[in-house]
Amino acid sequence: MLEIKNLHARIAEDGTEIIRGLNLTVQAGEVAAIMGPNGSGKSTLSYILAGRPDYEVTEGDILYNGESILEMDPAERAASGVFLAFQYPMEIPGVATMEFLKVAMNSQRKARGEEELKIPELLKRVKEAAGALNINMDMLKRPLNVGFSGGEKKRAEILQMKLLQPKLCVLDETDSGLDIDALKIVSDGVNALRSPDRAFLVITHYQRLLDHIVPDTVHVLYRGQIIKSGDKSLAMELEQNGYAGIIDEAA
Ligand code: ADP
Ligand code: MG
Repeated sequence: MLEIKNLHARIAEDGTEIIRGLNLTVQAGEVAAIMGPNGSGKSTLSYILAGRPDYEVTEGDILYNGESILEMDPAERAASGVFLAFQYPMEIPGVATMEFLKVAMNSQRKARGEEELKIPELLKRVKEAAGALNINMDMLKRPLNVGFSGGEKKRAEILQMKLLQPKLCVLDETDSGLDIDALKIVSDGVNALRSPDRAFLVITHYQRLLDHIVPDTVHVLYRGQIIKSGDKSLAMELEQNGYAGIIDEAA
């Protein structure tokens, strides 16, 4: 489903290279965890997958279902099923969360040549998905993410994911800011979406999240490259020994 080949990317503004020859393959149905110390390039990778214009790809390619997405803008990528849950969700004053969800869902439907959802059907879907995440309707009346707690922001990201039903889900540090109950709710929400035709890239720097969302593969990202890959035992090893050993080994 996703094949990243020798990817090099830099910050558009000042030319600093952040991603330095990154290779990664993720199959449909797979949950791949990306781990790595702060500043490794994890969020940068997620932005580049989503198509954020602040970064330039200088070499390599990103294939999604066998086709390069480098020339696609963020809206085209989203319509084709790519979804990013942000590490730091943006606040959008003046746009009620419910309105945002409605526009997001209907924009995708439009891009796919489907009819807009009728209001009762939309409300039904949102209520159902929100209920499962312990999000009440009052929160959905508030402007998106404005004044939301860290945990509320993360739950709002997962709500969007549930409603949009993407095929390639990138979750950037979804566990940060969540207490243990919220972590359980969010993980259950993610696990319910696991399916043979969907893949997840779960970015985290703690092993904790991976007790709840058990990955098929674990990759360590350091200085813009994948320096080690393995199964979930690699995450356990990191939890016990930290990154130093693996970084030395790679060097
Ligand atoms: P991680 O998510 O693994 O903690 P990031 O992808 O956020 O790492 O950042 C990787 C490195 O790139 C960091 O040193 C960060 O400061 C730098 N960086 C990323 N994006 C920008 C940007 N737009 N402007 C300046 N520095 C950036
Ligand atoms: Mg990050």
